[in-house]
Amino acid sequence: MTTVGDEVGDPGAKTSVSPGWEATADLVVVGTGVAGLTAALRARELGLSVLVVTKAEVTDSNTRWAQGGVAVVDLATGDSVADHVADTLAAGGGLCEEDVVRYIVAGGPAAVARLRARGTTFDRADDGSLARTREGGHSAFRVIHAGGDATGAEVERALAADVGRQRVPVLERHIAVDTLRTPSGGVGGLLLLDRDGARCVVRARAVLLATGGFGQLYQATSNPEIATGDGLALALRAGAVAADLEFVQFHPTVLYTPGARGRCPLVTEAVRGEGAVLVDATGARVMPGVHPLGDLAPRDVVSAAITRRMAATGGDHVYLDATGIDGFARRFPTVHAACARVSVDPAQEPIPVTPAAHFACGGVATSPEGRTGVPGLYAAGEVARTGLHGANRLASNSLLEGLVVGERAAEAVAMDLAAGELAPLGRAVPRAVVAPIADRELVQRLMSRHAAIGRDADGLSGAAARIAAVRQDRALDSHRAVEDAALTLLADALLVAAAERTESRGCHVRTDFAERDDVRWQRSLPVRLDATGTPAVLAPALASGAA
Ligand SMILES: Cc1cc2nc3c(=O)[nH]c(=O)nc-3n(C[C@H](O)[C@H](O)[C@H](O)COP(=O)(O)OP(=O)(O)OC[C@H]3O[C@@H](n4cnc5c(N)ncnc54)[C@H](O)[C@@H]3O)c2cc1C
Repeated sequence: MTTVGDEVGDPGAKTSVSPGWEATADLVVVGTGVAGLTAALRARELGLSVLVVTKAEVTDSNTRWAQGGVAVVDLATGDSVADHVADTLAAGGGLCEEDVVRYIVAGGPAAVARLRARGTTFDRADDGSLARTREGGHSAFRVIHAGGDATGAEVERALAADVGRQRVPVLERHIAVDTLRTPSGGVGGLLLLDRDGARCVVRARAVLLATGGFGQLYQATSNPEIATGDGLALALRAGAVAADLEFVQFHPTVLYTPGARGRCPLVTEAVRGEGAVLVDATGARVMPGVHPLGDLAPRDVVSAAITRRMAATGGDHVYLDATGIDGFARRFPTVHAACARVSVDPAQEPIPVTPAAHFACGGVATSPEGRTGVPGLYAAGEVARTGLHGANRLASNSLLEGLVVGERAAEAVAMDLAAGELAPLGRAVPRAVVAPIADRELVQRLMSRHAAIGRDADGLSGAAARIAAVRQDRALDSHRAVEDAALTLLADALLVAAAERTESRGCHVRTDFAERDDVRWQRSLPVRLDATGTPAVLAPALASGAA
């Protein structure tokens, strides 16, 4: 990326951007999913002036589409924090940070209690307690859900309503483009484009990125259109370190339709939790003999097994046989409706399914309180890499992370403000941002072909070379350009990390290095932009002091 403009803080710079309007706040939160709204509400409770910006409507988020639920222990059922931690570590392929896992899992019950106090209604069992289901990799029934399989919609509804009640200002259809930099290299606000593409500036003591993941880097994904990784790109450009980018979780079961592109409806793992099994076109089971948990093995294992079976049988999908589940339409109304739209009746016939890009296990490297290595810049939710997920996220741990870390990040901002650690509001002049952009469809095609499940050195380097050959510097002067630049940068960053990791672990499956190699690779790969704006993997010695 290059920037056009004179030094930060030079109000007379001719090539700087003249903002249409300016606003100020203690904290500007970018994103209105579970992490952003939770953080904004907590910041408001702590007495901070908060402004929330989001590039679409308030409820346009990954959160809104979450189906299965929130993983949270209930001691009364015999479950324990230790068991939830153990399940998370087992799914994470040796790269979770155990203290972070314990911190977030232990924070779950209180965070869910506050979520319920904000108006979220979860489904109840016959005895009146919260109904709990089981998902892949979980050793207990601990996943609470709402509306059957519409958990995210209920969480999003309740948080958005509370933000309205608490009168937290939200700017819809305003996209974050770039950070304002303080003279000491920190972050002191944001450059935005409003709904008409006009530039505006928010000066703030702190910026919290809660911009979600980047499923749109691939042709087929469970993620909605907003999931283009903008916040991660913005953080990298601000000098932050990212980590674990090579670990993109492919959900084993999105609804298959021939040639599907963009957002594909998810068939929640809870369907397997309640007895459905994966079969191929001949009716043969897919999972027996693959993993002790069978159809409820962790997602990376199930997705890889489906991919192998599809390669062996020459198909592009398998089937999920849920015909044995009583009352399917009542328990899974969202899945049932999606199936009905393509004339599939799950009560009568197996559901055609295939893996698709679902969740970014990596992101901006943060502490479990959302602090990045850049003063004034915080991140929470799917955009962040706290160390909870390692090489593969355990099902339903991400809403949990958004709830817990969203609150902690707001508290960290309040604490850092009180301690005088954040720069006062400055006069920094926004830079006119120019960044390399490659055609979005080409990037998605290359990533799906060479950086999905089953990667090798030739494919990864070939994809990187193709993108390098076609990308061109362009001004980030429209919403589309901001997203395309983010996708181009993240493709580069992911490809460089995936090429570096010459082993298979969790969601990162290399066909040329099929084994896990703990001697060389039991560590995260931190990525930062070099002096030319190109993503580079940091050497381990540098990395230890980077984030
Ligand atoms: C189909 C589906 C099912 C899922 N099921 C579950 C589940 O059952 N349990 C679970 O734990 N997890 C589930 N997940 C994952 C989980 O939903 C997400 O990880 C989580 O909701 C992310 O929340 P978030 O707040 O970090 O980001 P999001 O909810 O994605 O919100 C991101 C926000 O940032 C905004 N934004 C992005 N870029 C910009 C920008 N440049 N400027 C301004 N605003 C911007 C977006 O508009 C949006 O408001 C599921 C995901 C999907 C897609």
